[in-house]
Amino acid sequence: MIVAERKPLDEIERELEGCRKVLVAGCGTCVTVCMAGGEKEVGVLASLLRLRAAMQGRELEVLEATIQRQCDREYVEQLRQQAEGCDAILSMGCGVGVNYSTEVLKTIRVLPALNTRFYGANLAEGVWSERCAGCGECIVAATEGICPIARCSKSLLNGPCGGSQDGSCEVDAEVPCAWQQIYDRMAQLGRLDRLEEITPPKDWSRGRDGGPGTAKRADAAAIETSGGQP
Ligand code: SF4
Ligand code: SF4
Repeated sequence: MIVAERKPLDEIERELEGCRKVLVAGCGTCVTVCMAGGEKEVGVLASLLRLRAAMQGRELEVLEATIQRQCDREYVEQLRQQAEGCDAILSMGCGVGVNYSTEVLKTIRVLPALNTRFYGANLAEGVWSERCAGCGECIVAATEGICPIARCSKSLLNGPCGGSQDGSCEVDAEVPCAWQQIYDRMAQLGRLDRLEEITPPKDWSRGRDGGPGTAKRADAAAIETSGGQP
């Protein structure tokens, strides 16, 4: 899922400078699961903003709404009416939600309340860790399910750098060296010989380096005509 964290309150208040009425909008999917921007977090942030405004003698009306997803037009449209008369929507969705709400709602400003961090897994209660960088062409069959792009600090594709020490990455002793993990996994599976093959330069144009990505199913037109049901 997409993992995000709330911005510092001072930064959010700077974004809202000059606003007298705002709608704090949560998202019911990834950011609810990572406890950054769901209904509960919307309530907490809205209360904090009201309280701080009252303490500082500022006029600020704060409305609250949480929709199922901020990356789907049918849900984002629900915010249009609720944001009527607001100076801005303060989105607690990920960056996709902020961008897409801006695009769909057009006439209202949409400001980010979160910093979107990475695609990650939930390791324990309250702990998430990056596992994929969305490179557009998955190569982890060659590394037995361990991603060297997201999990090696230098995204190396052909083995470790010289800084790997006792299983840790040179950037931080608390960070496991992804290439040590790959080596251990290959050894466990009896596939170490595979590591002798050289991985050719990767085609980065499938990911961020190729510009904004678009994915369209071959039967997209058929889906559109059937009202979204393939
Ligand atoms: S190789 Fe690319 S798609 Fe596969 S897990 Fe790594 S970043 Fe994600
Ligand atoms: S120590 Fe390991 S994880 Fe860190 S940059 Fe070098 S190869 Fe990558």
